[in-house]
Amino acid sequence: MTIDFLNQNTSDTPLGFAHHDHDTCVTATLAAADARCVSDGLRFTPVRRKVLEILLQEHRALGAYVILDRLREDGFGSQPPVAYRALDFLVVNGLAHKIERLNAFIACTHPSESHAPAFMICRLCDAVAETQSSPAGGALGEAARATGFQIERTVVEAEGVCPTCADKADA
Ligand SMILES: [Zn+2]
Ligand SMILES: [Zn+2]
Ligand SMILES: [Zn+2]
Repeated sequence: MTIDFLNQNTSDTPLGFAHHDHDTCVTATLAAADARCVSDGLRFTPVRRKVLEILLQEHRALGAYVILDRLREDGFGSQPPVAYRALDFLVVNGLAHKIERLNAFIACTHPSESHAPAFMICRLCDAVAETQSSPAGGALGEAARATGFQIERTVVEAEGVCPTCADKADA
């Protein structure tokens, strides 16, 4: 399943930095996650779904304790393991990603495809946009091939200034 509307605006600006219909974005991403869990036989429990919903509210990485606070507000209890287990489920199944740089989590914007994510992180507002990387390509891929190293996973986190913050700085 592909989410076509996600591609309308993303040729020049990745989702997260681009202006888009965020309500549709949330609804469609949750629907894609529901479909993934059904087709892969994964148990998408209410608390797991709630954590994904919390992550989807803004295209911003959230730490585990912020997520725990929101879970508590929504009546899902306040035991840290509940939040950690739900995050672990989302990350392992590719519905969310961990941003190592921020020690925080973000909802995946295209959970129906297997992909090697790359993140652009705004150092001023912590907005995060996800795009694709190709671990087997580029200079790293060539270096790996030359040494006979097989890349299984890469973590690409670029830090910089997002278009919104750049506009503010210009004004
Ligand atoms: Zn959105
Ligand atoms: Zn992703
Ligand atoms: Zn920014």
